[in-house]
Amino acid sequence: MNNHPCIMFRLVTLMAVFPLFLVAGLPEEARLRAASEALQQTPLSVPDLHVFSEYVRNGDNPPALRSRAMAAYAMALLLQGNTNNFVRAQQAHRTAYPEDAQLIPLTAEHYSIPCDACNGTGQREKSVCPQCLGRGSQFQLSPLVAQTYKERLGEIAAQCRENAEYAEKFKEATKVSRDDRQIELLQALTNSYPHRTDLAPAIALLDDALAKREARLRAAQEQEERRRIEREAAALKELAQGPDRPRAIRELRAYLAANPHVAPAIELQAVLDELVAKEEQRQRLVKIGIGVAVLIGCLCLVSVIRFFSFPRRASPSGPLPGMDKIDKADFTDPLSLTAQDSLARVKRKTVRIPVEETGIKDTDKVD
Ligand SMILES: [Zn+2]
Repeated sequence: MNNHPCIMFRLVTLMAVFPLFLVAGLPEEARLRAASEALQQTPLSVPDLHVFSEYVRNGDNPPALRSRAMAAYAMALLLQGNTNNFVRAQQAHRTAYPEDAQLIPLTAEHYSIPCDACNGTGQREKSVCPQCLGRGSQFQLSPLVAQTYKERLGEIAAQCRENAEYAEKFKEATKVSRDDRQIELLQALTNSYPHRTDLAPAIALLDDALAKREARLRAAQEQEERRRIEREAAALKELAQGPDRPRAIRELRAYLAANPHVAPAIELQAVLDELVAKEEQRQRLVKIGIGVAVLIGCLCLVSVIRFFSFPRRASPSGPLPGMDKIDKADFTDPLSLTAQDSLARVKRKTVRIPVEETGIKDTDKVD
């Protein structure tokens, strides 16, 4: 029976705390944003101010937001008339964020005026002024307090919104697998939020994506280069097998001079050497042929020159020596003889034919 009130107490506590757990389920910044938007409507809403104080207590929160939440919370204390706590909060803020002092640009004159009952002396009729209780001043808020408070709330809400947008865009960029698209998103992100101090992960990812893209493009370029060299080498080898050997040698030499370190250079050099050897052999044969032709030509020329240059020792065509001393009358042309003359010549064993002994008498003597 003793447990019963205890259980009831726990249940009540749970019911009171449960909504806080629900709210705590949200990311801290989302809660801060919701609270700051609510406070813009209801400047002194207690649960929302509680969210602010919790946010301020967590030293791990981003300094820009924590400093502003601290400033807003301090000014909410002032708006509630709690000047002592405001002064302490302002001092704490200045200690934690000295460079953010202008976030609470308030001094005593913004929340107090000289007491009109004692003219700021604190004394009235030789005793403590009953109106200001001796302080000499009265609490009166300058409109600047509420205005600055709203400004800080607006800044907090805007900062939370931006953080959420930035986080979402960054997350989207990390999920993209295509480097081009990722680079585009990350460049847009870093250009859209150049003032942010937490760009390092985005910049690192961008650098990584740029390096990946560069490596990918370089690999593609190298592959294309390899293919081009293969095509050129194939074309040169085809040319080497063709009929125009001098052209193939020329082109191979030019290619190897321009591209001495390509992969098929050794192979092409071997092809070139082979072609050069063949060409030299052909040229040797041509020279030998030309030499032989020249030799034959020379021989022919020499013959011709000799034929025309030296007169031949032709056989004398005139009468034989001594012929002029011969008496032509002693000779008779055998063809002019008659058969009787020939017979007479045989009988007398002479070539001479007496004219008187021609005719039948000769014939008779033979008989
Ligand atoms: Zn007074």
